[in-house]
Amino acid sequence: MKKAFVTLDQVKKIAEKYPTPFYIYDEKGIRENARRVYQAFSWNKGFKEYFAVKATPNPSILKILKEEGCGTDCSSETELMMSDACGFSGHEIMFSSNDTPDKEYQLAAKLGAIINLDDFTDIARIEPLLGSFPETMCLRYNPGGYFKIANTIMDNPQDAKYGMTTDQIIEGYKILKQKGVKHFGMHAFLASNTVTNEYYPELAKELFELAVEIKIQCGISLDFINLSGGVGIPYKPDQEPNDILAIGEGVHRAFDEILVPAGLSDVRIFTEMGRFMLAPYGALVTKVIHFKHIYKEYAGVDACAVNLMRPAMYGAYHHITVLGKEDEPNDHTYDVTGSLCENNDKFAIDRTLPELALGDYLFIHDTGAHGFAMGYNYNGKLWSAELLLREDGSVKLIRRAETPKDYFATLDIDDTMKKYL
Ligand SMILES: *Cc1c(COP(=O)(O)O)cnc(C)c1O
Repeated sequence: MKKAFVTLDQVKKIAEKYPTPFYIYDEKGIRENARRVYQAFSWNKGFKEYFAVKATPNPSILKILKEEGCGTDCSSETELMMSDACGFSGHEIMFSSNDTPDKEYQLAAKLGAIINLDDFTDIARIEPLLGSFPETMCLRYNPGGYFKIANTIMDNPQDAKYGMTTDQIIEGYKILKQKGVKHFGMHAFLASNTVTNEYYPELAKELFELAVEIKIQCGISLDFINLSGGVGIPYKPDQEPNDILAIGEGVHRAFDEILVPAGLSDVRIFTEMGRFMLAPYGALVTKVIHFKHIYKEYAGVDACAVNLMRPAMYGAYHHITVLGKEDEPNDHTYDVTGSLCENNDKFAIDRTLPELALGDYLFIHDTGAHGFAMGYNYNGKLWSAELLLREDGSVKLIRRAETPKDYFATLDIDDTMKKYL
């Protein structure tokens, strides 16, 4: 069963100071999980997790992960700026973008980040743009076809816009070598939110075999292989969670079978996880403010899809705990809705929950990654606050809630909005 990392009493106290809706993150959970990731890959000299900033772009979170040894994975100018400001430098930053504007490559190069090229045509852009190639370059691979594990289709890279074909990437390494690049990496992200211990090991096998082929065809030994993100979490309570230690061991076996005999035992393994690092350790907390009985039973809350888009966008399941009613029977059925003028603004559909009352606090689980980050301002709704539950039990505001003044601030019009600014 999924358990909230805050109690009703804690939330009542927090809400006196920071009204709902808000996001709250669990520092202890984040740190313990990050340590398990490092333990899982401790067999690999030089392993590094580059946290995907897009999942939870908050400096307080990034600094915690930095203390645990992580770097950052960025794909935009502001993500690079945030990483820089948090003290990440040089190869602690990976820049994995696509459809990339010139100035973002320039900033990445200025910070000394590892640049991961998404497309073959990007190779020709680097010299004119940066003067010369950085000593270290990474290329992103897309094998096409379907990504399968034991005949089960996990995802379909052939329809994904990312990466280079096999022929392109081999040609790419030849060009880079000829241009004087000294250190080479390879990157691939072939399936998302995988809830199986086999994803990384299967991906690793495919990439390790290609690394051997690259050695033969291009005469280069890769320095690192970046398995990127895609390690999932069990959003539903009956799903079996990934065992990161088993995943690390699976990659280790593939490493010993394929890379070591090929003389590639110095390859460093990188990961770029977002969801696995943060999702379970963040929650959206919202209050029941309205009931409606028509053809269905609706419970309206003070958060809406702008605060958490995944259910509306993907039909994603997020488990809900009614704080203080953890031991009551789930004998009522509700659609839990927000207030947008969009009928997909529902955090849950036909969800069985304990009987709800006005003022109940709902803890929406597993929203620590791709939650707050995917927010928007539709219907003039504002971004919520983000809070950090420290290891000592205290609560720190790590992003204040947006105000109407913030919302109007970017408008460039005479004095129309002046009375609200
Ligand atoms: C989104 C993304 C990630 C993180 O993905 P998760 O599913 O959150 O692990 C890593 N690398 C790249 C390039 C991404 O775009």
